[in-house]
Amino acid sequence: MAEVLVLVDHLDGAVRKPTLELLTLARRLGEPVAVHLGPGVDTVAPTLAEHGAVKILAADAPEFADYLVVPKVDALQAAYEAVSPVAVLASSSAEGKEIAARLALRIGSGLITDAVDLEAGEGPVATQSVFAAAFTARSRVTTGTPVITVKPNSAPVEPAPSAGAVEPLSVSFSKTATGTEVVSRTPRESTGRPDLTDAAIVVSGGRGVGDGENFHFIESLADSLGAAVGASRAAVDAGWYPHTHQVGQTGKSVSPQLYIAAGISGAIQHRAGMQTSMTIVAINKDEEAPIFDLVDYGVVGDLFEVVPALTEEINLRKA
Ligand code: FAD
Repeated sequence: MAEVLVLVDHLDGAVRKPTLELLTLARRLGEPVAVHLGPGVDTVAPTLAEHGAVKILAADAPEFADYLVVPKVDALQAAYEAVSPVAVLASSSAEGKEIAARLALRIGSGLITDAVDLEAGEGPVATQSVFAAAFTARSRVTTGTPVITVKPNSAPVEPAPSAGAVEPLSVSFSKTATGTEVVSRTPRESTGRPDLTDAAIVVSGGRGVGDGENFHFIESLADSLGAAVGASRAAVDAGWYPHTHQVGQTGKSVSPQLYIAAGISGAIQHRAGMQTSMTIVAINKDEEAPIFDLVDYGVVGDLFEVVPALTEEINLRKA
C-alpha cells in the first residue's frame, strides 16, 4: 500500500495533537509513516503507533535543536527519498509550513498550505478555506508528490493501532543546514492553558470586556472549559491582552471545535481568523452585532452577567 509521510510535531517528550490529526488524515491516503526528528522517539513511539503509524523513521542530532529549520528539511528529504511516499503531510505551524515549502521546492513538487480537509482521489484533494473564509477551495497538486500542511483541529484524533516500528533515518546535512544558529531561547511563561492555535476550545474577549483587568472573566470561563484565551485586535491594541493572543487576519488563525466570542462585534478581519471554527457562540449586548450572522448559538446580553454565570454553571456540572 502507498505510504504517506507525516512530520511529527513534538514537545517535551509528547506528540502534539495536530500530529495525531494528521495521522487520521494520512490513513485516508495510504499507510502513515511518521518522521520523528530530535530526541525522545522511544517515549512517543507508542502514541504514534496507537494512532496508525505503520513505521517511525527517527533521526536525532544536535543540528535539529541548534539551527533553524534547514536540518529538519534535510531529514524530511532523506525520509522522502527512502520511502517515495504518495504525499507528505505537516502541521500548519509556522515551522511546519516553512519546512514543507522548502521540501516542496527541493523535490520539485506542488505545495498546499492550510488545508482543512483531505480526501483520497487521483492525488489527494485538499480543502482550504480562503478569503476570510468567504470561499472554500478544493485543490490537487498536479506536479510531483503533494506536500500539504493541515491546520490544527481539522480532523478528529482516532486511534488505529499499528506496528509503529522505529527505524533509524540516516541524514547527511547540507551546507546550508548550519547557516542560521539558534543563539538563545527564552521559554514563554506558561499559563497552563493550551496553545491558542492548537486548542480545541477558544474563549475570546473584545472591546466589550472594557478593561484589561476584566479579562479575568474571560480567563475563568476558558479555565472552566480547558480552553485557550483569544482576543480581538481592539482589545489587544488597547493593551488589555498580549498581541500573541490576537485572533484574526493580522493575528492568529484558529479553527477549534468551539469558539466563544464575548464582547466582539464580528468585524471581517476578526472573522478571518475564526470563521472555520466548528461551533461558534457569541455573547454580545447588541442584538444587531454582525457576529450574530455567523454564530451557531448567540446570547444577547451583558457579558459581565452571562460569562460569570456560564463559568459557574460549567464548574458546577464538572464537580
Ligand atoms: P468592537 O467592534 O468595538 O465591538 C465591541 C463589541 O462588544 C460590540 O459589538 C458591543 O456591542 C459589544 N459589547 C460592549 N459591551 C458589552 C458587554 N458588556 N457585554 C456584551 N457585549 C458588549 N480585528 C481583529 O479582531 N483581528 C485582526 O486580526 C484584525 N486585523 C485587522 C487588519 C486590518 C488591516 C484592519 C483595518 C483591521 C483589523 N482588525 C482586526 C480590526 C477590526 O476591523 C475591528 O476593529 C476589531 O475586530 C473590533 O474589535 P471588537 O469586536 O473587540 O470591538
